[in-house]
Amino acid sequence: MARGRTSIIFKGGEHNGLEYHDVALPLPNRIRYSKGVCFAGSLEKDDIQIIKFSEKLPNNWISYSVDVYVKEEKENKRKLGSIYKYKGEEMVNRCEATTQKGTLCKHNALDNDIYCGAHKKIISK
Ligand SMILES: [Zn+2]
Repeated sequence: MARGRTSIIFKGGEHNGLEYHDVALPLPNRIRYSKGVCFAGSLEKDDIQIIKFSEKLPNNWISYSVDVYVKEEKENKRKLGSIYKYKGEEMVNRCEATTQKGTLCKHNALDNDIYCGAHKKIISK
């Protein structure tokens, strides 16, 4: 393995045993694995759809769920690869702010908030 690259292995949950090789360092502490299904539509119209997506979210997405994996601290630093352990499922919600163009903000809301970082700053002023 080249310097600055490593392998990661997922343990538990839906992705148990999944491996990725030649991953660039440094590694994040958490990896959120999209389940590829989202809620989409308009909250005002009370008409929500469940949409499957592969990579790109549809423009009218509202929320989607992810499997969260957390990096385990290694006992032996020289051992190859890092293990990510399944921690549970989380919802990712869309920021509820409206942009100057009148469209819904495209960013994720912060955890335990209805706005993204940028809109939280503007609105709390
Ligand atoms: Zn926003």
